[in-house]
Amino acid sequence: MNDVIIIGSGPAGWTAAIYASRADLKPLLFEGGEPGGQLMTTTDVENFPGFPKGVQGPELMQVMKEQAARFGTEIIAAHVDKLEKTAGGFEVTAAEKTYRAKTVIISTGATARRLGLDSEKALYGKGVSACATCDGFFFKGKKVIVVGGGDSAIEEASFLTRFADKVYIVHRRNELRASKIMQERMKKNEKIEMIWNASVDGILGKEVDHVTGVRLKDSTTGELRDMEIDGVFAAIGHEPNVDLVKDLVDLDEKNYVKTSFGTSQTNIPGLFACGDVQDSRYRQAITAAGSGCMAALDAEKYLADQE
Ligand code: NAP
Repeated sequence: MNDVIIIGSGPAGWTAAIYASRADLKPLLFEGGEPGGQLMTTTDVENFPGFPKGVQGPELMQVMKEQAARFGTEIIAAHVDKLEKTAGGFEVTAAEKTYRAKTVIISTGATARRLGLDSEKALYGKGVSACATCDGFFFKGKKVIVVGGGDSAIEEASFLTRFADKVYIVHRRNELRASKIMQERMKKNEKIEMIWNASVDGILGKEVDHVTGVRLKDSTTGELRDMEIDGVFAAIGHEPNVDLVKDLVDLDEKNYVKTSFGTSQTNIPGLFACGDVQDSRYRQAITAAGSGCMAALDAEKYLADQE
């Protein structure tokens, strides 16, 4: 019987692991199918305190992992298939093995949302992508669009200008949700052009098996027009990764794990949640890390109270 099992290896999971291992709780951490989570596809992280010159997302995850390992976190490179409540705590099944723990910390994060078009599915990986860092290189000298109006859309668009000749940001409204500093940066980039009040109605190119264009719909008039393009990147927000717990814990109206105000406690005693899986509001690496610290301290107190 372990004291603590942590599921997920983004900034929330690693911070929970650092705190839990320093409290001598000998945590087990399951890295999941995408170790490191969303920061693995992020380039410059400029707002994580302690890095005045910025840090690359994957590097930040690597140093957090090393810090957790240094204090004795047992790291298991596996995806957790099942989490169950038992009489004495919890059972976690991963790679056909079962592990038991008195407390579990859920830090499974969130995943990029898709546009939900059939043509998007058909052309995924053939010019359609949700990750500029991963696929930007393939668009050297090409024309691409980024869909969305938040910080991610601008970040993806800016990154893509390293490769593409022209990047259009297609946004469904006439006002961006992105922060002012990102908007200012975008305005200075001559390769980026906004297409306001437009949504993607379809992606063209099925016949030739690669993206050749998009069909845009004007959100005010409903008018359709086709535009030649080589790549489509969606940056339209995220969905929390709640598959493992959706039948076990209460979720909020946006489908995020519900925690009691100001703590990481879910409605199941001994089950804690931190990071993007329970945060639809801030979704920052630093807030995820902060909530990971809270989850470890909450688990530690719960275990002490049990004794
Ligand atoms: P977001 O802020 O939720 O923005 C999502 C954008 O996509 C919105 O503009 C939204 O339009 C649009 N959208 C949503 N569904 C759509 C659909 N089906 N079709 C077309 N457009 C759709 O998500 P995010 O940009 O991923 O940012 C998430 C969080 O991470 C934010 O807190 C952000 O500040 C943070 N972040 C920070 C940085 C940084 O500081 N460097 C970088 C990336 C992300 P509406 O505006 O009309 O709702």
